[in-house]
This record gives sequence, C-alpha cells and structure tokens, in this order.
Amino acid sequence: MRLRNIRGSREAIAASGHVIHEEETRAGSWHEIFGNGHPIHVEIGMGKGKFLMELAEKNPQINFVGIEKYSSVLIRALEKMEQEEKPLSNLVFIRMDAENIGKVFAEGEVDRIYLNFSDPWPKDRHAKRRLTSREFLARYGQILAPGGRVEFKTDNRALFDFSVESVKEAGWKLQTVTYDLHGDRELMKGNVMTEYEERFSAMGNPIHKLVACR
Ligand code: SAM
Repeated sequence: MRLRNIRGSREAIAASGHVIHEEETRAGSWHEIFGNGHPIHVEIGMGKGKFLMELAEKNPQINFVGIEKYSSVLIRALEKMEQEEKPLSNLVFIRMDAENIGKVFAEGEVDRIYLNFSDPWPKDRHAKRRLTSREFLARYGQILAPGGRVEFKTDNRALFDFSVESVKEAGWKLQTVTYDLHGDRELMKGNVMTEYEERFSAMGNPIHKLVACR
C-alpha cells in the first residue's frame, strides 16, 4: 500500500460522516452507533475498503467496521463510499492502530474479525506487530463474542505458517486451513476478493486462508 502523504486527508476524514473517531468511540456502544442489534464484523487493515464495501452491500443485516491505520489510505475508501449510489448505512471506518482495539470494543461485542493480506513484518524482532501474533490474538479474544471467529487470508506463506502456529500456541481452534483457497470450490462459495487478493491471485500466487475461534 502506498503511503504517500495526501494533502487534506486528515481534514477530509475529520469531516466525513462515514468515520467514527477513535476518541469518540465508547466500548459497548456499537449497537447504539448503528441503531440496531445486528452482529458486528470488523476488518483490521482494510486498506481502500473494497472487501468491506462489497460485504456491506451483500449483507445489510450485518454491521461492518473497517479499521485502517493511515489517513492516506483511508481517504481512498471514503472517496469510494462517496461514489456509492446507495449509501451503506451498515459500514463505518475508524482510523486507528489496531493495537488499541480493546479500548474501542467491549468484551464480546464483535462477532467476526477479518484480517486480509496483513503486513508481514518479516523481521523476528517485529513479530509482535503481525496482526496474527499471540499478542493480537489475545486482544481479539477479549472482544470476540462466544462463537466469534477470526478469518485470515494472505498469499504470504511465511506469514501464514507463523499464523497457524500462533493460533495453536494461543490455544485457539483452527476451523479451516487451506493453502489454495481459490482451488477449493466449497470454501470459495461467498468469497469476496480483497484488492490485494485480486492483484496477487492474478499473478498466479496461491491464496492461503485460515479460520480460527477460541
Ligand atoms: N486488506 C486490504 C487488502 O487485502 O486489499 C489491504 C492490505 S494492505 C497490505 C494492509 C493494510 O493494513 C494497510 O492499509 C495498512 O496500513 C493496514 N495496517 C497495517 N497494520 C495496521 C494496524 N496495526 N492497524 C490498522 N491498520 C493496519
């Protein structure tokens, strides 16, 4: 993801009705924010938001929250939202570092977490920053409802292998593990491609996926 500074992106984000500001969020208030009791699904590191916009359009009975660390990336998602013919009332964004996710959602408030093509942080000393590290799983464990799950897709084999081990070490259950998602007709049912998934699968890279629950 290009992280060029985009002039005015902070101001545009501050003014956008599609963004909930981290400092305004209150753990436990998400059903109030959406104005209904529908399940809450979160994507962490949503990039330009293609995956979530498609999911939100297809699933009006689910509320979606997209988390993205950088304004320069989030602004692209906001631009796409402005182009939507029908506004998506079941999708909002937060610009924040997912490290603080436990401050934004209450215990058991989230039904599903999506991690798609997360940054690999290849150096060992940065392993804790990987969004599938044990440290992050512990954060997800706090906010996931009973029966909630984490779904992770990537084409990065080293990160995927690390993630499988990390899930096991954290004592979570692996419901699904595939090294070739696009070759599995069953698992492909309802699969929504992310921007990176489209790009890397077009290059011939196999896509790996795991689903984990506590
Ligand atoms: N999920 C998208 C996809 O599959 O097309 C984008 C993938 S991109 C490689 C990873 C994104 O995660 C980037 O936009 C990056 O800024 C964001 N990101 C990385 N670490 C993050 C964190 N700790 N909190 C929030 N977003 C993060």
